[in-house]
This record gives sequence, structure tokens and C-alpha cells, in this order.
Amino acid sequence: MIIVFKHDASEEQVQAVVTRITELGMSPHLSKGIARTLLGAIGDEKILNAHPVDAMPGVERVIPVLKPYKLASREFKRENTIIDLGDGVLVGGPRFEVMAGPCAVESREQTLEIADILKGFGVRILRGGAFKPRTSPYAFQGLGEKGLKILAEARERTGMKIITEVLDADDAPMVAEHADVLQIGARNMQNFALLQRVGRLQRPVMLKRGMSSTIQELLLAAEYILKEGNSLVMLCERGIKTFEPATRNTFDISALPILKYESHLPVIADPSHATGIGYVIPPVALASMAAGADGVMVEVHNHPEKALCDGHQAVQPAPFHDMLEKLRTLAPAVGRTF
Ligand code: PEP
Ligand code: MN
Repeated sequence: MIIVFKHDASEEQVQAVVTRITELGMSPHLSKGIARTLLGAIGDEKILNAHPVDAMPGVERVIPVLKPYKLASREFKRENTIIDLGDGVLVGGPRFEVMAGPCAVESREQTLEIADILKGFGVRILRGGAFKPRTSPYAFQGLGEKGLKILAEARERTGMKIITEVLDADDAPMVAEHADVLQIGARNMQNFALLQRVGRLQRPVMLKRGMSSTIQELLLAAEYILKEGNSLVMLCERGIKTFEPATRNTFDISALPILKYESHLPVIADPSHATGIGYVIPPVALASMAAGADGVMVEVHNHPEKALCDGHQAVQPAPFHDMLEKLRTLAPAVGRTF
């Protein structure tokens, strides 16, 4: 952290801060410029939260050097975190991973049918919501525990890994029983009780960016999970609210390289909720791979006209398969396997 002194700070005031920094166990590095005196304080910055040096006479401001998030940062961990879902499915490694499936688990037949199709395409992670965070309380809310059991059956049948949303902290252990990855949705990104609850489970979590949240807020939300001892966190860019009405949200593609630069955690792109338009999803998925995402999550439905949730944005199996082929062609050009 850097301490900037007022232009008229006296020598005694500067020395008092140097003494204080030393007493607090940090090492002071003084730099006397023509206009200003600066003091670099190297050590555990958290100490200064309890001992606010910026309240001392002569100090103008204190600039933290380290990021407000610690455990999620590259400063804390240089190498990429790779999350092992078992059976060779590694998220965050060189292989690009695709998560696909319907928005919601609607019935056993629908889920097993689409799971079989996706398995046939080589998809290794099946998505589907059993608990749906709907804008309207009158809209389909998901099948709840029955939906989780259907997903578990799809896993048994296909060997695919399961990702599904947990909406409520009390449900977290039950969802963890059936799912390989717990999804925290955009609306819950700052539900700190839920974040802490999944932080106490040793189960992979995919944390989606809130629709009105900054990249830093996403990383701080991840910090809540990491701080509880669960290091298996993936971050997901799913679009943010802007003034542009042409798409459901605006896909923030620059968030992908920024998250990869700032954090060691795997980064997933969700072009389905980001754009909300079937034909826009495949090109945005390709762009995500090129921009450094470790994988994509795409909503696929074989009967979108009958879907109980997000049918308008579902990609049908044939264009989805075409998207997979294009990802396969692109992968070596951007240093990925797929
Ligand atoms: C979802 O993935 O099913 C979902 C509801 O997405 P989001 O939380 O990003 O809106
Ligand atoms: Mn959806």
C-alpha cells in the first residue's frame, strides 16, 4: 500500500507514520519527491483496516496496492485452478468444456431425451434447472427435488456430469447430493448466506455474474465461497444490463480475458442468457473460446416450442451440433483442445 502525504506534511508527521508502519510489522519505503512524499508500506495490508493510518496527521490518502479480493486473485495463486469433475472432465485445463441442456428440467422424458442427444454429440456436462429463479411468481418454478432425481437418473444413464442451480441456502446439501456442480445464478450472486453455505460444501460451484454487477463484485462474491474453504469455484459471464434492447443482456466479452488475467479460477461463458437469441448464441460461443473462456454453457432444447422456460433462446440440436463442429475447428488456433 502507498501512503501519500499532504504537500505541507511536516518531517515529524512523516516520521510518526514511518514509526507506526514499523510498529505494525510492515516495512516502510520512503520516497521524497519534489512535490510530495510517498511511503510504500509492504506487508499484510489487512492490519491497516484495524489501524487506520489515513487518520494520522499529515496523511492525505492511502492507496491499496493489492486487490480487495485475495484468494480469487492471481497474486494469491499464479497457476490456473483446474476443477476435476471426475472421469477426465477437467474445467480450467487446456480442454474447452461445453455444458448444455434445457433451461429447466420439465419432465423425465424430456430430460432423458435431450441428455441422450447431447451425450451422442460428445457433451460431458448436462445442465438443467430443478429450482428456477423466475421473474414472475406465476411462471414455472421447476420440479424441485423431483427434478434433481431426474438429473441424477440422466447422470446414471449417460455418465454425464450434472450442473444445476441452488436457489436457497437450506437446499444446498440436497442439491449437492445430486449435482456435480452447484450453480449460483445471477440473481443470487450477492446472496452472501448462500455463498457461505456452498463455501462450506466441498463441491464445485459455478458462480454467475449478477446482471448489474461489476467484474470486481463478481470476484468479491467468489471470495465469500473461497474464504469458507471451498476452492472449487468457476466464474461465469452471462451478460449484463445495458441500454441496448436488441439482446436480452449485453455479453461482456472483455470480462473473459480480464477475469483470466485477474484470477486463477476457471471462466465459463453463457451466451444463452447473455444474448437470449438462438442464432446469436453460436457465434458468441465461438468468440468466447477465442477470448479465453475455459468453456461455455448453452441452453439446448429439442422442442423449444413446448419449453416451459426460455424456449425462445433455446438452440435446437442441429445448429448446436454445427456450433460444436466450429468450436472443434477453432480450438487449435487459440491453443485449446476440444
Ligand atoms: C440459468 O442458467 O438457468 C439462469 C437462470 O441463468 P442466470 O442466473 O444467468 O439468469
Ligand atoms: Mn434459462
